[in-house]
Amino acid sequence: PSRKAAKGSMADVPRDLLEQISQLETLFTVDTQKLCAIVDHFMKELEKGLSKEGGSIPMIPTWVMTMPDGKERGTYLALDMGGTNLRVCEVELLGNRDFDITQSKYHMPPEMKTGSSEQLWDYIADCLQAFLQSHHPSDAQKELSLGFTFSYPCTQTAIHNGVLQRWTKGFDIDNVEGHDVQPMLEAALKRKNVPITVTALINDTTGTMVASNYTDPETQMGVIFGTGCNAAYFDVVKNIPKLEGLVDLDPETPMAINCEWGAFDNEHVVLPRTKYDVQIDEDSPRPNQQAFEKMIAGLYLGEIHRLVMLDLHEQGFIFERKDVEKLKKPYSIDASLLSQIEEDPFENLTEVEDLFLSRFGIQTTEPERKLLRRLAELIGTRSARLSAAGVAAICKKMGIEKCHVGADGSVFNKYPHFQERGAEALADIFGWHHMPPTHYPIKVQPAEDGSGVGAALIAALTLKRMKEGLP
Ligand code: BGC
Ligand code: MG
Repeated sequence: PSRKAAKGSMADVPRDLLEQISQLETLFTVDTQKLCAIVDHFMKELEKGLSKEGGSIPMIPTWVMTMPDGKERGTYLALDMGGTNLRVCEVELLGNRDFDITQSKYHMPPEMKTGSSEQLWDYIADCLQAFLQSHHPSDAQKELSLGFTFSYPCTQTAIHNGVLQRWTKGFDIDNVEGHDVQPMLEAALKRKNVPITVTALINDTTGTMVASNYTDPETQMGVIFGTGCNAAYFDVVKNIPKLEGLVDLDPETPMAINCEWGAFDNEHVVLPRTKYDVQIDEDSPRPNQQAFEKMIAGLYLGEIHRLVMLDLHEQGFIFERKDVEKLKKPYSIDASLLSQIEEDPFENLTEVEDLFLSRFGIQTTEPERKLLRRLAELIGTRSARLSAAGVAAICKKMGIEKCHVGADGSVFNKYPHFQERGAEALADIFGWHHMPPTHYPIKVQPAEDGSGVGAALIAALTLKRMKEGLP
């Protein structure tokens, strides 16, 4: 009879495992009350980040000071160095909120994440050169303008530069933190005789906001839920005390802010961290940093799952007398594996069974697999709900009651139910449950390509401002 039970039925799960599941539910559930407390604290931290004293969220002015008007034209290069791939694009802006894009992806060897700075910049310059050679063999000497999407926290004193505050997303390359990355890239380009000028240095979130606003002017925010997580929005100079005395700008001037909200609650005041979150942090190359990101982003979701499994195994609840050696390898589970666990269409989770057998050599029982699936749901739901808290905090701070939010990243695009769970959390926070989800006034929706089209647009906007003599 258990075969006929509804999907997700726990009918034949023994008592001791049910007990563990219920403890995990308590640990990983963020209820509405907690969510609202997080939003309140988040708003205060956003303000603090903009103050002269600063706080733990960097709140970086990006010097992007206008949204596109849709009439931008011309051909620009874009380089995207995110957490996983390197991508070079050539973007032609067509002047009617439309564009053409040609792109090549280059594999970033994982060793490069912890290699040397020279290696990194040379590799990037080589990729740019290879791209030009295959797309522009004839006019090889023409100087091209590049929007460089470098998605790590950088302090910017102008649009084209940025001093890396610290690596995130597991990167750990010496001699880059504390330095301006733009001259390093330009030096490598010069060494190799590649005719490219870095016109703008941008964060993927800012690019996402600008690109999404280009095709959908209702967009007021850009967010990334991928390997890392972060958001950008437009504020106004009078709300940014830390700019006082630095620049002579009209107080009403708009200024895009790269929040770097991955650093939210680094001092552990409000987030419901579990011992697994603490362990991830302690074992990471940058402990005590990116507290929020480490509970949300794709890089960490599988690792949280793995740590819980090992803990339950050590306590004798799952995989009894099984060899779990393979599961002991850090980061051996990624978010896509969690997605697969959540998406197994079979009641008795036979796909999960095959996965664990082939990947880890572990034969699982059906009740164990049900626990594993529930755990994946809990981790994915917590990520979506905490993400929504960040979006809500920015909207509340800015008094935005209705807008579109352009969202990108592997977790947002591929993790099952992430979008619905996030929308549900926003409804919990703002009390929208009397309306159908299609009417929710704040919509987090798939973005336009921020690191490509967005970077090109920002390069275009920058050149236009330079011509007009604007900062
Ligand atoms: C980085 C941000 C970036 C985000 C998403 C974070 O780790 O610090 O700059 O926007 O990941 O890629
Ligand atoms: Mg990216």
